[in-house]
Amino acid sequence: MPRRAPNPTRALSTRSAADAPAPDASLADVPHSHRGLTYPFGRSGPEPGTLREIAPGISWSRLPVPGALNHINVWVLGDEGGIALVDTGLNIPPSRDAWDALFAGPLAGNTVMRVIVTHFHPDHIGLAGWLTDRFGVRLWMSRGEWLFARMLTTDVREAPPAEAFAAWRAAGWTEEQISAAAAKGWGQFASVVSPVPVSHVRLQDGDTVRIGARGWQVVVGSGHSPEHACLVDFDGKLMIAGDQVLPRITSNVSVNLSEPEADPLGEWLASIEKLKALPDDLLVLPAHGEPFTGLHVRLDALAQGHHGRLDALHAHLAEPRRAVDCFGVLFARAVGDHLGLATGEAMAHLRHLEIEGRAVRKVRDGVYWYRQA
Ligand SMILES: [Zn+2]
Repeated sequence: MPRRAPNPTRALSTRSAADAPAPDASLADVPHSHRGLTYPFGRSGPEPGTLREIAPGISWSRLPVPGALNHINVWVLGDEGGIALVDTGLNIPPSRDAWDALFAGPLAGNTVMRVIVTHFHPDHIGLAGWLTDRFGVRLWMSRGEWLFARMLTTDVREAPPAEAFAAWRAAGWTEEQISAAAAKGWGQFASVVSPVPVSHVRLQDGDTVRIGARGWQVVVGSGHSPEHACLVDFDGKLMIAGDQVLPRITSNVSVNLSEPEADPLGEWLASIEKLKALPDDLLVLPAHGEPFTGLHVRLDALAQGHHGRLDALHAHLAEPRRAVDCFGVLFARAVGDHLGLATGEAMAHLRHLEIEGRAVRKVRDGVYWYRQA
């Protein structure tokens, strides 16, 4: 089957609710949510191809990501016999060039011992296979994330599956919007992700992984992705957070086609509670934005943002509404061409109200109408 030419910009900007994965950032972004956080390394990051040391044996680099996200942070850890890499960037030329510049420059002479990926989203796993092939090393991931990546890289087809059309109709999309989404085909994930290794080393919640002189506990969160691995070094007071806690942007939490009846927002809120059991004085190393302290302040702000939107949405459901009727209540920004993202996030909030017993759903001609319970 012919594979469409890679077009990372399009792949990032036009994903539909049904075509996983959604982007990292939510449309419900709160621009001033950095209040109460401290940025010991300032508010800008290292240029691609350069490294900045942030603790003994831990360096920070950045890879370019098209669009508003701009970059992903990657971490280089001192490991026994060489270095370990955490997260890998999109499989696009600028990211590969940035890695090449690191290996020819500040990382020259280092042997990569393993590649660790926090979760399956393409800006994190995109170059994992490219790197493990290059160095002949293993990929370390949670099983759920590895399976998702394996599944999505092989699911490339000409037309979206019937379930996608049903999900778009259920959300209230017009026939025009459905046709436009269908015209994009299916399987954009593979266009920005190098082949995912057939084997992996499993990271499990609660495991301690020794990397060089440090011991990192795996702390799994869910809601943004199924089995997102954070790494916490309690002795060194460090947390590699991936997208599970971001300082400025709100992580995308969406209902996806793989599990239309799921409650990802419930999982996300439960994960926030779980992370609040971690010490407040960790230096958080996020996948986007800059390292910060103030973990609990940030977790509280994220939870409050979702609870506020849930309450506003509940009030809006005095009349029956479809997902598409809820965008104005949930998002300050115009939805524009992010219809899929907006729909996934609206569905996540509607489903959570439904699961909590605050809303009920009636299905009429395949369209989901929600109102207050
Ligand atoms: Zn992500």
